[in-house]
Amino acid sequence: MAKDNQFVSQIADIETDFPQWYTDVVVKTKLVDYGPVKGTMVIRPYGYAIWEIIQNEMDRRFKAAGVENAYFPLLIPMSFMTKEAEHVEGFAPEVAVVTHAGGEKLQEPLAIRPTSETIIGHMYGKWVESWRDLPLRYNQWCNVMRWEKTTRPFLRTSEFLWQEGHSVFASAEEAEKETLDMLRFYEEFAVNVLCMPVLTGKKTEKEKFAGALATYGMEAMMHDGKSLQSGTTHYMGQNFAKAFDIQFTDKNGTLQYGYTMSYGASTRLIGALIMTHGDQRGLVLPPPVAPVQVVIVPVAQKKEGVLDACGELLKRLQRAGFRVKLDDTDNSPGWKFNEWEMKGVPLRIELGPRDIESGKLTVFRRDTLEKTDGYSLSEAETVVSKLLQEIGENLYAKAEKRMKERIVDAETLDELLEGVSKGNFVRAGWCGCRACEDRVKEFAQATARVLDKNHTAKICVVCGKKAEHTVFFARAY
Ligand code: ZN
Repeated sequence: MAKDNQFVSQIADIETDFPQWYTDVVVKTKLVDYGPVKGTMVIRPYGYAIWEIIQNEMDRRFKAAGVENAYFPLLIPMSFMTKEAEHVEGFAPEVAVVTHAGGEKLQEPLAIRPTSETIIGHMYGKWVESWRDLPLRYNQWCNVMRWEKTTRPFLRTSEFLWQEGHSVFASAEEAEKETLDMLRFYEEFAVNVLCMPVLTGKKTEKEKFAGALATYGMEAMMHDGKSLQSGTTHYMGQNFAKAFDIQFTDKNGTLQYGYTMSYGASTRLIGALIMTHGDQRGLVLPPPVAPVQVVIVPVAQKKEGVLDACGELLKRLQRAGFRVKLDDTDNSPGWKFNEWEMKGVPLRIELGPRDIESGKLTVFRRDTLEKTDGYSLSEAETVVSKLLQEIGENLYAKAEKRMKERIVDAETLDELLEGVSKGNFVRAGWCGCRACEDRVKEFAQATARVLDKNHTAKICVVCGKKAEHTVFFARAY
């Protein structure tokens, strides 16, 4: 049997060995492979197809919101990185630096972008002169590099793909509004495209972006109860405007610094999808992001008329706008069922001589593992449309139920530890001091994910003083 066919085999147990389950799934479904350099991954066509759908869906929404795409260089002069003190300190351990090129030592070392605030800030400094030039709201789709010693495909790799949006406004109010608007943008995307419930909110000082005044995050609960940060937005105030001289003449003729913000979401979203919806059989892809939404598997495909009927159904469903594949390979139907289930295809249609004769369809749902026969072949488009809609809703509902059930409250450190150990998000009071936040990390290996907007806790879970915030604590990827 060909080497590629071996991937329909064992996947580690999802409940007892989730990390190995994840590795098995991403490799065996051919989403990714490991690159020759530690910390790098190769995104294979099936994985890249998911990314392309995410890109298209997000890009369409950005454009509708008035954001424009541009592209900035990969290489950034090291001197740029040092202009914003907190920024350089935050990113220093992760930056890869080019010191030699063209067979010579470079006069000035060049950073490979870990993020592009500095170079975009530099260019905005050149482009912005008057209040009439504002706002600038640009986004770029690109790769970035943050050095990693280990490789966790889609979760932690040195190089990853993302979008980074950078805006500059004339006022703090506008920049702050955009920071919150983009957080809601991500949330809408997570809910409607990834069928993934999320918690959104402000990050603590400790967890915020290096150089920002405020960072907001979107956190999703994975199958094991750990949190995955799936998108962030940052309000910079005038920090970067001052560092990069983004100045404009206001309506009164006075020179002012602009206010900047940025936001990013990456290929981590694919990791989030896998760990939110996956099950023991492998991937479970929500219909809006599934590269193949429907697979048609012929039954007794050598019998006369079967492949023709399957081909006709393929064309009909494609014309109706679905992403459909006909698996007419020589593998047995059982083998095909396993393969496409592992690859998370939402719907499988089985079509054999008996179905064709009776004008019926047999349909298998990946989310519920239920097979139903008796659907009318002539109404295939309507049936598929309805079922894909139901699958998306069901996946969201299941994930939401899990998240709601696994948010628990704690009033003491012991309760907090017990909560996160059992794979929960723990909601607890916090006095706001760094020492208490550090203590949670040390004691329970949990971090403050986001602040709860509906602050209700009375006392700090660590020191017992008055709580200034209510925090969602969790172990995180
Ligand atoms: Zn405290």
